[in-house]
Amino acid sequence: MQKKELIGLAVPQLESLVASFGEPAYRGRQLYSALYQQRQWDFRQLTPFPLAFRDRLERDCQATLPQVNKKFQSEDGTARYLLRLADGQRIETVLMPERARNTICVSTQAGCPVDCKFCLTGVMGFFRNLTVGEIVGQVLLLVQDNNLALDRRLNLVFMGMGEPLLNYSNVRAAIYLLADPKGIALSPARMTLSTAGVVPGIKRLGQEPLRPKLAVSLNAATDELRNQIMPLNRKWPLAELLRVCREFPLRSGEKLTFEYVLLDGVNDRVEDARRLVRLVRGIRCKVNLIGLNPGPELTFRTPPDARVLHFQQTLFDKGVPAFLRKPRGRDIFAACGQLKLTESQPALANT
Ligand code: SAH
Ligand code: SF4
Repeated sequence: MQKKELIGLAVPQLESLVASFGEPAYRGRQLYSALYQQRQWDFRQLTPFPLAFRDRLERDCQATLPQVNKKFQSEDGTARYLLRLADGQRIETVLMPERARNTICVSTQAGCPVDCKFCLTGVMGFFRNLTVGEIVGQVLLLVQDNNLALDRRLNLVFMGMGEPLLNYSNVRAAIYLLADPKGIALSPARMTLSTAGVVPGIKRLGQEPLRPKLAVSLNAATDELRNQIMPLNRKWPLAELLRVCREFPLRSGEKLTFEYVLLDGVNDRVEDARRLVRLVRGIRCKVNLIGLNPGPELTFRTPPDARVLHFQQTLFDKGVPAFLRKPRGRDIFAACGQLKLTESQPALANT
């Protein structure tokens, strides 16, 4: 019989599991705290529990994290983990250490169905949604492997492989587990979810009592161009997307982030910047500009630095705060849009 995986289960599910073993509900809550607060995954070590209960857990259950298939270390400190899931699917998770904080970038799907033309994950296609345990497991694994403290210095971004809002219920449940003060206890204010613009998902997220900050990948300022580079724009065009962004209930001091990947000669002209300014007018926001991270199967190119700076300046001059996101771990293919299960380090010179 296949053992039941416990990582990813919340208190009510653990309570009913222990009830099926004939144990009182409070044992479910104790098990929850052992799994997520103490992170003790060897059931034999749970000495406060009666021996028979420990034996039962050992026999019927397991608490496992994704397996590290390979780990790549960048010159800039970024670490890219190629992980293997229980069914053999593979995903990637990235750790970006900085002096004052660490950021973990998690995947929410194996592959991605959205098919953006500038993204290697999109090019690779879609395999399946990740489970709650697989999303939470990526965080627990990187925390354990790097001895990270689960405190204010740890940031979490849902910007790895996949479109988080197309795996809404599992991503939502993972966020609630990760943010539970009685468990992993990460602050939701230190989490950011990035979406390519799944309009119903953005609406729903805005209604959640507990939610991460929102980033929306715009990448084009006209429907014509956006249809070409992000096919999901045909379903949810810019006017609709910007409407839900405008209605998104921001907390006090909170800003929405718009991401904009600059593609040489495609969306990086001054008139694109001006259009972008008009689109986001009236929304409390900032814009993160990302120079395209290159990839072997991509036809687009990274604009020269001067063009990127000019684009940024145009936004600034019109009162839109715009920041350049510096690429992390490009040498190990860990940067935005480069996650594609590359097992060796590809020679960028060939791209
Ligand atoms: N699916 C979500 C989150 C994952 S992608 C989304 O699209 O928002 C995270 C970010 O990487 C997005 O802002 C996306 O536009 C950007 N990105 C994708 N491919 C890229 C590339 N080749 N270079 C730079 N950024 C890229
Ligand atoms: Fe999917 Fe985001 Fe890549 Fe688009 S940019 S294909 S939504 S991961």
